[in-house]
Amino acid sequence: MGTVEPQVATDAQTQLIDASQLVIDALKLNGIDTIYALPGIPITDLTRRAQAEGLRVLSFRHEQSAGYAASIAGFLTQRPGICLTVSAPGFLNGLNALAHATTNCFPMILISGSSEREVVDLQQGDYEELDQLAIARPLAKAAFRVLHAEDIGVGIARAIRAAVSGRPGGVYLDLPAKLFTQAIEAGAGRRSLIEVVDPAPRQIPAPDAVKRALELLKGARKPLIILGKGAAYAQADADIRALVEKTGIPYLPMSMAKGLLPDTHEQCASAARSFALPGADVVMLIGARLNWLLSHGKGKTWGGKGAKDWGGQKFIQVDISPQEADSNVRIEAPLVGDIGSCVQALLAGMGGGWPQPPAEWLAAVAEKKKGNVAKMAETLAKNPSPMNFHSALAVVRDIVKANPDAMFVNEGANALDFTRSIVDMFKPRKRIDVGTWGIMGIGMGYCVAAAVITKQPVIAIEGDSAFGFSGMEVETICRYNLPVCIVVMNNNGVYKGTDVNPRGGDVAPTVFVKDARYEKLMEAFGGVGVYATTPAELRKAMEDAIRSRRPTLVNAMIDETAGTESGRITSLNPTAKKK
Ligand code: ADP
Ligand code: MG
Repeated sequence: MGTVEPQVATDAQTQLIDASQLVIDALKLNGIDTIYALPGIPITDLTRRAQAEGLRVLSFRHEQSAGYAASIAGFLTQRPGICLTVSAPGFLNGLNALAHATTNCFPMILISGSSEREVVDLQQGDYEELDQLAIARPLAKAAFRVLHAEDIGVGIARAIRAAVSGRPGGVYLDLPAKLFTQAIEAGAGRRSLIEVVDPAPRQIPAPDAVKRALELLKGARKPLIILGKGAAYAQADADIRALVEKTGIPYLPMSMAKGLLPDTHEQCASAARSFALPGADVVMLIGARLNWLLSHGKGKTWGGKGAKDWGGQKFIQVDISPQEADSNVRIEAPLVGDIGSCVQALLAGMGGGWPQPPAEWLAAVAEKKKGNVAKMAETLAKNPSPMNFHSALAVVRDIVKANPDAMFVNEGANALDFTRSIVDMFKPRKRIDVGTWGIMGIGMGYCVAAAVITKQPVIAIEGDSAFGFSGMEVETICRYNLPVCIVVMNNNGVYKGTDVNPRGGDVAPTVFVKDARYEKLMEAFGGVGVYATTPAELRKAMEDAIRSRRPTLVNAMIDETAGTESGRITSLNPTAKKK
């Protein structure tokens, strides 16, 4: 069903426009310039024609990677990332990313072709029969289907608004195969398209809510600010920095908020996290949720006596979603609005002078930080053989410091947790990672989108297991000749490579082929592969990759006994083997 069957025009003079053209025109009209896709029935021709019409169509080897690329494109650009897939299996492969976008508050639109409605609804067994709209709905912020060519403009406008307005999220748009056979009168078709005006309207916080937040903050003896990826998404970097610096309050960046202010900033309390959280009396959350990543705002992490006990902190929560407050603990001062407007209102409300936090609190945080930084420096200075996570990441840390504009992708278990705490970020929205779910598989999709959008070199630090989920996309990276340097932290398995099957026979479920040569995968498609067993070899390979901008995979051989089960979240693994 790749081509359009010409409709019989009643009048030889009548010019027709078909559905594919309307989809392409509607996207272009709304500033969409890139589609992350995997061609096949019924959207093959749509991908070709989109490319011919000047859209950049990036074609992947698996829809999951295309979807993750689209989701992070949404995060980086504040425009919906578009993922285009075939029906049933392609659609299902894209769903993971759709749900990921919704969960992470990233704007994305999954557009999938689908089978004949009449046949699907009667369950008569169509090619790739599946009720896609019903399946997508619970995983998406919104889901729409377009049955008629004249509704394409509205369908795409609604999808865009739903994706980017308010709390952003994933949107599903269902385009049945039959739609692509339709054509309508060209003038009417063009008039039916909608250029969305103000797709993500500013949401100004109420003055009394601003006042309430400032009063609470002013009275704090041990205040703390937590910056989340909502703050990074908002692109209000200068105002956020001004707010943090004007208040003088120590801050903790969540993983993807790292670099909003440089991690080396005097007020950054990352190295004193386990002291600052239970110690604080007033906590201002800016675009961060009190979910599992913050121990739900209670329990021992927060100084509570038991696992569910409130630590006594009072919370200010700056968020665009009015429903987020009180999701886990009482929020004393909810501030609802877009982060840019909220931070501006806070700054304006603070006026000229603002009392700095008590010196004892600042000194206590600083001292804790100093001790932990020194301890870490000692660990990083060691040069064990074989190389371990720390000695490898000491190199990565230097390289990122020397290349602060490079994009930084990170996934894995230990490869994620160690990297997050060891590698400093210096600029906003450079670090993109596993996000709210802590999922594996985002790696190569993120690399492609990050390289294409920012034109900067991309460094990906990948656990060997994590890399496997999207590893085939190294072909995509080579095909588009993207400046991506992948470092596979290879410790021969999931968590580590030392498990033994007590019965003999098959290796343990967590163990991979020993000494696997991942770098040859990159060589297979014309990229550069490097086998690195020492920090010096790793350093040279990464420096070469960034200088040459050639697709590179460094297989960094890590001590297979290094690493802990489930990384830092061993507590969530009910039957984890302790170290
Ligand atoms: P992290 O995992 O970094 O803590 P979360 O994803 O948990 O971040 O939280 C991000 C929060 O930011 C969400 O509650 C979301 O509603 C909010 N958010 C996203 N974009 C904006 C924005 N532009 N303005 C205000 N809040 C936003
Ligand atoms: Mg591993």
